[in-house]
Amino acid sequence: MFIFDLQIANYRNYGRVGLKLSKGLNLFVGENAQGKSNLLEAIYLLSTLRSSRASSDADLVRRDLLHTEFPVARLSCEVERQAGNLQLEVAIVGRTTDPSHKAGKRVRVNGVPKRASDAVGQLAAVLFTTLDIEIVAGPPLMRRRYLDMMISQVDRGYLRAMQRYAKVLQQRNSLLKRIQAREANAAELNFWDQELAHAGGVIFQARADALGHIVTQAQFHMDRLSDGMEDLQITYRPAIGGMDATDSPIDETEWTARMIRALTNLRNREIGAGATLVGPHRDDVSVEINSLPADSFASRAQQRTAALSMRLAEASYLRRALGDDPIVLLDDVLSELDARRRRGVLEFIDSFQQTIVTTAEPDRVREVMTRAAGRFVVRAGSIQRFEGE
Ligand code: ATP
Ligand code: MG
Repeated sequence: MFIFDLQIANYRNYGRVGLKLSKGLNLFVGENAQGKSNLLEAIYLLSTLRSSRASSDADLVRRDLLHTEFPVARLSCEVERQAGNLQLEVAIVGRTTDPSHKAGKRVRVNGVPKRASDAVGQLAAVLFTTLDIEIVAGPPLMRRRYLDMMISQVDRGYLRAMQRYAKVLQQRNSLLKRIQAREANAAELNFWDQELAHAGGVIFQARADALGHIVTQAQFHMDRLSDGMEDLQITYRPAIGGMDATDSPIDETEWTARMIRALTNLRNREIGAGATLVGPHRDDVSVEINSLPADSFASRAQQRTAALSMRLAEASYLRRALGDDPIVLLDDVLSELDARRRRGVLEFIDSFQQTIVTTAEPDRVREVMTRAAGRFVVRAGSIQRFEGE
């Protein structure tokens, strides 16, 4: 798929911007703090309906509007897809003083209002940023988020299970605390164990499945980008009570059954802790380079290459799951790579219908400049197309 028209209004540092994007490679050049990352964040938000970095919707609305009566940012795009063309609009309403306007996101798909959870993944995208190194070097949360953002774009059942799981987990944890304080009976847990394990089974299964594809793809990229010097191992570590990855269950029902068993075994400890100790909310993925844990042994460049390989694997995972190309978004990542890795990335993403690249240092990415089908300059929240070099 590819975006041919993008409209932005009052989003971050942008006023009103309308863009005709090209198929193929689009390059956005701009100095620091001009709006390059904001642009890619906007496109990624159209895909996932979540910001890749903001903590609240109000952050996304142009700041000088926030004190007006109806502060709203608007994003919309037109997309050509295998599955038919798409028109997608998101309105983000910031804090309001008027109680008749609720804060939050409103989404329309081809003009029809939709819940955000039903519009996720209509536009598929994979976003590369300089923070991706955290997938390898950061805490388990970063690896869970990597999986969640990826899988929810292709599997609506996954997103629903995630929402259900979060709700049940919260209720179960507060029940555990009440049991601990002798305000409730332990038998009440039976119902919540079932509920949690059912949603959990869906999540475990989807993560195991997605990783199955990611592992071989990421290994392939790591090998290519490091010229055969670095071997990447990625292993799912489901938090289901001392289970080895090699005896992973094969379907949802089996994951659910295992989780119920784990919850039963741990019941007394969980009451003591007042918290749920197993389940996908505690999952991790181990990443090793040349047989050593990458977070504590690998060099920064190795970690970066591993994270990059995982993002490239994400792009092909989305392509396979959707039968269509996701939009590839590269936020300032090419200039931090050496020439060989850069070439390796460009060669691979060349096979995708559309790539959107930002850089503050066009001289460092001359090969992108020459290949680009569309070139733009970003300056203080305005964007201009330019021809030539
Ligand atoms: P760099 O090269 O440093 O990565 P960039 O071009 O990617 O820079 P952005 O991260 O897109 O820059 O941010 C551009 C500017 O947008 C920042 O100066 C920031 O203060 C501003 N900005 C962010 N949110 C808002 C908002 N809600 N309203 C107005 N301005 C905002
Ligand atoms: Mg930036």
